[in-house]
Amino acid sequence: MKIAVIGGGIVGTLAAFLLKRNGFDVKVFERKELGYGSIHAAGLIEPYRFDKINSTSMVIRMASYMIRGSTAISKFDNEWVLSLMKIINENPPAYVWDELKEMGRYSLNFYRELAQEKNDFSFSDKGVAEVYISEESFENAIEEEKLNPLNPKYEVIDHYRFSGGILYPELESLSTEKFIEHIGQELNQNLVIRDVHSFSPTEIDNEKFDMVIISTGFETRKLGIPVTGFSGYGFLVKGEKVNCPIVIADLGVAYNSYEEVSKLTAGFDMGWQINEKRRERLLVLAGKYLDIKDTISSKFGIRPCTPDGFPVVCWKDGYLFLTGNCRLGWSYAPAMAKLAIEAAKGRKDFGFFSRFCSHSGGISL
Ligand SMILES: Cc1cc2nc3c(=O)[nH]c(=O)nc-3n(C[C@H](O)[C@H](O)[C@H](O)COP(=O)(O)OP(=O)(O)OC[C@H]3O[C@@H](n4cnc5c(N)ncnc54)[C@H](O)[C@@H]3O)c2cc1C
Repeated sequence: MKIAVIGGGIVGTLAAFLLKRNGFDVKVFERKELGYGSIHAAGLIEPYRFDKINSTSMVIRMASYMIRGSTAISKFDNEWVLSLMKIINENPPAYVWDELKEMGRYSLNFYRELAQEKNDFSFSDKGVAEVYISEESFENAIEEEKLNPLNPKYEVIDHYRFSGGILYPELESLSTEKFIEHIGQELNQNLVIRDVHSFSPTEIDNEKFDMVIISTGFETRKLGIPVTGFSGYGFLVKGEKVNCPIVIADLGVAYNSYEEVSKLTAGFDMGWQINEKRRERLLVLAGKYLDIKDTISSKFGIRPCTPDGFPVVCWKDGYLFLTGNCRLGWSYAPAMAKLAIEAAKGRKDFGFFSRFCSHSGGISL
């Protein structure tokens, strides 16, 4: 069976990788380079830190991010905000939480097992610590954690510099740059660098396929999937070393150290254009809480977010769509890839994950 994957961010890359390992004949079409749309990320594998976007508490969190300067609106997406408001505080069917928990468990195992084969991508399973600047947000977070439907293990910890923190010992981290290199060694012969614009469910540039997967992230909005873009930046830096990755939760800033460099990520901006001034401001903001000496490089990225935050996995117009993991694309990508394999084996129905997939009448990127 011959399968095309359009978009080689982390979701498309791992879909292609796992399909290949399961014996399918795969080609991944990526317009820039493997991993391009996802490489900026912090590399935290934290599926149990899911945010239900259509909740009042998330709207309040976004407002407080704005006050602190870690969120800005560079493009107000009216249509998307309207669809969010229409479903504010609605809950998915109860089974969705079990599915999400299982997807998280699968993804955490996938990265661990890949690292057991060869850990050349700085994989660590020391957990992830969320730390809090304000005493009030720390106390609220402890209360909120008790209600987390994904029910992760956690420990309340002291932190000498912050009001306190919550350590999630089951969570993992990796270097996104090294991970893409690792996967590329197995996938390079299946990679075509091409910006694909017109295609059908069975043909791309006169080449026939049995199945076409669309995993173009934020760009899937052009194809009728209601995702908006929340953008941010990933910086490779020389700076202080941390034992396990930390997330400064009041700012949405993540920081991790590898052997030679550290990675800092910041920004949750509504909009999808790179903005040099914002990038500098975010770096200054993070620098108030972290000891950063030098910036080596920076990359821009866009989180593809549905109005409720849940992913999209569905057949639509003859294509399989895989998208919408918002701030957890890396954390759920292996599980999304597993669903792609099930689709290739004939699965038609993805329940709640197909909620945005009615026929759109025509398709072109
Ligand atoms: C600052 C920041 C930090 C983050 N940190 C984390 C983290 O620690 N953990 C985590 O789980 N998630 C994290 N995320 C979220 C994560 O980066 C996204 O969820 C993820 O990138 C989405 O992956 P994707 O493959 O769906 O889409 P994308 O990464 O957007 O990939 C889509 C790909 O499709 C390609 N493409 C688009 N159109 C075409 C076309 N016509 N033809 C060919 N190719 C095309 C693009 O070039 C791109 O490479 C972070 C995001 C940001 C912004």
